[in-house]
Amino acid sequence: MNKSVLPSMRVDGQIALVTGAGRGIGKACAVALAEAGADLVLMSRTDSELDEVAMRIEAIGRSAQKIVCDVSDASAVSHAIGQIDRLDILINNAGILRASSLNDLSAEDLDDMLRINCRGTVLVAQAAAKIMTQQRSGVIVNMSSTFGVNGRANNSVYSATKHFVEGFTKSTAVELAPLGIRVVAIGPTAIETPLTHDRLNDPAIGGDLLARIPMGRFGQVEDVVGAVVFLSSPAAALISGTTLMVDGGWSAQ
Ligand code: NAP
Repeated sequence: MNKSVLPSMRVDGQIALVTGAGRGIGKACAVALAEAGADLVLMSRTDSELDEVAMRIEAIGRSAQKIVCDVSDASAVSHAIGQIDRLDILINNAGILRASSLNDLSAEDLDDMLRINCRGTVLVAQAAAKIMTQQRSGVIVNMSSTFGVNGRANNSVYSATKHFVEGFTKSTAVELAPLGIRVVAIGPTAIETPLTHDRLNDPAIGGDLLARIPMGRFGQVEDVVGAVVFLSSPAAALISGTTLMVDGGWSAQ
């Protein structure tokens, strides 16, 4: 009998940490990874949302540990992730969007986006990479965006934070490859989540976004999780330092 050439997208028995796991894309990633066989560590600031996700994962037959923590709090992140014995997969997903023109941008929104989307992404990746370095294995999946490769009016700082994620992904992929750690990113287009609900349902904003998606529809969280599980799995063993766009063709134009 010939040996199968099809690599596995299962992650049975692996430990996956998902930030921003309480709702939206992060919640769906956590559930999908559990369905693919992983045990989960769930992080966000809202305990009640993590409780609900943990119950769903336990119903699938996998374990779920909660960490209530702000990803931009250096000591809390380092302490919480430092308690984890083993870590195979990090979905570095927590992020916020405060859309504004440059003229109207408040210093508070600027600081919050830089703090959570940039500083938080680095702090969590750094804490995870310390564990993965000891193991000499692991994969970090950073959540970028269409706006990590494209610009957009009234979205300059959010877009800049996602360009940061792109640069951080490439450089850490090069740095960590000799340690057996892959680093990749996902670039979703507009996905219907609590973050985007009001914007996508605003005819002016939603209509303009939709017109830029060649496939003619917004994404659902289910559109994103296949890419996340694939990149986390042995099927992506030689993929590092790149972004998989899940954008209906937007960035191809
Ligand atoms: P969402 O529905 O608002 O969910 C965001 C999650 O991140 C929540 O669980 C939130 O929980 C958590 N979070 C936010 N700030 C945090 C912090 N400081 N510390 C810890 N957790 C934090 O957003 P989403 O639409 O799923 O977006 C998830 C990621 O995908 C973001 O990085 C976003 O930029 C990116 N993305 C989204 C879209 C889209 O169209 N939805 C497209 C491209 C990229 P708490 O507030 O309780 O902490």
